[in-house]
Amino acid sequence: MTRVALMRCKEYRNDLLTDVIARGMAAAGFDMESLMGARVILKPNLLMPTHPDKAVVTHPEFFRAAAMVVLEYGGTPILVENPNFFSLENTLKKVGYGPIMEELGIQVPDPVPTRPLRWEHGKLYRTIDISAAYFDADIILNLVKFKTHSFTYVTGAVKHLFGVIPGLKKSRMHMRVPDQADFADYLLDLYGGLKYGMGPDRQLFHLVDGVRSMEGEGPGPTGSPRDWGVVLAGEDAIAVDWVAVKTAGLDPAKVFTIGQGFKRDFGPNSSEDIQVVGESIQDLACQFTPPKNTIYGGVVWPLTSKTVKNWLVEKPAPNPEKCILCYQCMKTCPAQAIAKAPEGKKVPAFDYRKCIRCFCCMEICPEAAIGLKQGALQWIFSFKQEAK
Ligand code: SF4
Ligand code: SF4
Repeated sequence: MTRVALMRCKEYRNDLLTDVIARGMAAAGFDMESLMGARVILKPNLLMPTHPDKAVVTHPEFFRAAAMVVLEYGGTPILVENPNFFSLENTLKKVGYGPIMEELGIQVPDPVPTRPLRWEHGKLYRTIDISAAYFDADIILNLVKFKTHSFTYVTGAVKHLFGVIPGLKKSRMHMRVPDQADFADYLLDLYGGLKYGMGPDRQLFHLVDGVRSMEGEGPGPTGSPRDWGVVLAGEDAIAVDWVAVKTAGLDPAKVFTIGQGFKRDFGPNSSEDIQVVGESIQDLACQFTPPKNTIYGGVVWPLTSKTVKNWLVEKPAPNPEKCILCYQCMKTCPAQAIAKAPEGKKVPAFDYRKCIRCFCCMEICPEAAIGLKQGALQWIFSFKQEAK
C-alpha cells in the first residue's frame, strides 16, 4: 500500500506551511531523520519569471517552507532548476526566490551540464540526459505546482520531473515523442530512472503546492489561478497524482501517466493500492475546469493525420491584441512551426501542418497571448461529447 498525505493549507503563511509540510512528509512515511547531514535538492517549478499569484510557478513561500524543514532536520538545501528559455538568475529574482536564497544560504549549482541517467527497465528510453547536479544529491524533493495542462491534462508529480532535463532540450523531446501516450511512457521512463536508476541510497519524494493552483488552459499564464488550499506529500509520484486529480474533480483516466503507470512496476497497480492519510478526498473535493483540448475527449492521436488533426483538434492561435512579437514562442517550438510575423501582421506565422500540438508556445508566452482555436470540424466532436 502506498501512502499519500492530503493536507489542508489555505494560505502561504510560513508557520502553517512548515507545519503542514513536516507533518505531511512524516504521515506519508518519509523518514525525517534521513535529512540529517543529507544534501537535499529542492526542485521547484520555475517555468518563467511570473508573479507567483498567477500560479505558474512553485510559490516562493512554499519553497521557503520546504527549505526550512530541511534545515531544521539537519539537511543542506540545494536548488536545481533550469527554465526552458529564461535565465535562472533572472527568474529567481522575478519570482521572489532571491531574498530566500540569501537568507537561508541555499546553494544553486549550474544545471546546464548533463549526465546520462540509465535505467534498464525503460520502455521507450533506457538512457536520458538530465542535469548532472541531481547525481550529487542524497535526497530529491520534487516541489510540484499542480496545474491543468493542455497537452498532458495535468502537471503533477510525474510530469513535473520533466524539468530535470535542462532548458530547451525539454521541448526537443516533444518532437521526438509527439504522441501523447508515448510521451507518458517517456515521462514514466524518466521517473523510473530517477526512482530506481540512481542507486539505492538516493531518495525521491514529492510535495505538491496546491495552496493556489491552476485550472483551464494551463500550464502557462493562459490558465486561470484557483485558490485550492491543498498540500500533498508522497513517495510515489503516480499515487500522488491520482489523489491530486481525484481531489480536483478531474478524470484520472485522462492522465496517461496514471493509467500507464499503474500497468508498470512502479508501485501501485491501481487506486486500491493507494492509502490517503490526513484529510479525505471527499472533504477536500472540488471541481477544477479541465483544459479544453479535445485530445482527451476521444480523438486518438496516432489516428489523426495532419489534415484530420487540423480539422478535429484545437490549434494554438496568437492574439494580435496581446502579442508583443517577442518571439519566445518561435524559439521554443520544437517543430519549427512558428516563423516571424509577415510584413503588416501583428503576430508570428503558425504553420499548422508542422505543428504537433505540444502547446509549448502557449506555455511559454509571457503575455498569455496564445489561445486555442477550434478545428473546422470540431463541432461534430462537441456534439458527440454533449450527447454522452
Ligand atoms: S505569441 Fe507570445 S511568445 Fe509569441 S511572439 Fe507573441 S507575445 Fe511573444
Ligand atoms: S506551434 Fe506551438 S503547439 Fe505547435 S508545435 Fe510549435 S510549440 Fe508546439
